[in-house]
Amino acid sequence: MSVFVLGSINLDAVARVDDLPRPGETVAGLSLELFPGGKGANQAVAAARMGAPTRLMGAVGKEDSGPNLKATLAGYGVQVSDVFELKGTPTGQAHVWVGSGGENMIVVTSGANAAVTPQHVAATALEGQRVLLSQLESPAQAIEALFRAGAAKGALRILNAAPALPQGAALFPLTDILILNQTELATYAKLDAEPAKLEEVSRASRKLMSRPDQIVIVTLGAAGVACIRRDEAFLIEGRKVKAIDTTGAGDCFCGALASALAISMDLREAVELANAAAALSVQKSGAAPSMPSKREVEAFLE
Ligand code: ATP
Repeated sequence: MSVFVLGSINLDAVARVDDLPRPGETVAGLSLELFPGGKGANQAVAAARMGAPTRLMGAVGKEDSGPNLKATLAGYGVQVSDVFELKGTPTGQAHVWVGSGGENMIVVTSGANAAVTPQHVAATALEGQRVLLSQLESPAQAIEALFRAGAAKGALRILNAAPALPQGAALFPLTDILILNQTELATYAKLDAEPAKLEEVSRASRKLMSRPDQIVIVTLGAAGVACIRRDEAFLIEGRKVKAIDTTGAGDCFCGALASALAISMDLREAVELANAAAALSVQKSGAAPSMPSKREVEAFLE
């Protein structure tokens, strides 16, 4: 059984500088690197690398980096036939400037990502898609259409409600598994401080549930993952690793979890596997290139 991801596809342009520019200032870049990015693309790569057949739905520009990005994602094993190439619309981009101390400034333009509509979703056959996965870098109306269609077909609907946006909460009732980091949990649950202890995380997570069968999963960085149901909460501790670059750790977790659930692993086992996959991903630079394969995760867990 397979994973269907509706999500963003970006070209990430990362320029390194000595000092970040102030308004009106021009500084010389030390280097420029281009990577595939966007939460949808990253999570689809993570899911495909973990072994489940994975389809990605999204949109890129036809006249710029879009076709190349599609080919790169296909090279990672993602099925891209539902990625539309749009004329006259730029591919989504993230412009990242990183200073010598690691501090950064980021501007994201959604471009073609904003053009995915409920009609695109309605035109897609969802037969055989066991797990649906989305994030909030795609239009909420399209995600809603996907989750409504998926419910009718008995699919499991996973929402990584990131970045935290007001329109995200309206999708929670349509979601079976909600994945948040601590900052997003604090925003949606309207807390002044980020919850850290399992008890606080559980209380805040339960405020977001509207059905007794919903699950909230909260990623806690190096501390691991909390998993909360109406009447149960457990913590899977983070794996002790030397983190080099945590970019895309959350995306790795979401994609790996969807992949594990698509092959019918039980929830605890799937969370343990995804926690290990994400720990491996922080040991390598970049997002998509750092997503581990199923074999690498199994070897790590032996
Ligand atoms: P990002 O925005 O950096 O992608 P995030 O804020 O969405 O990340 P985190 O909670 O920081 O998500 O990390 C996701 C998961 O990655 C964690 O739940 C954990 O499994 C793993 N992880 C992150 N950082 C570490 C670390 N330093 N050591 C081990 N595992 C880690």
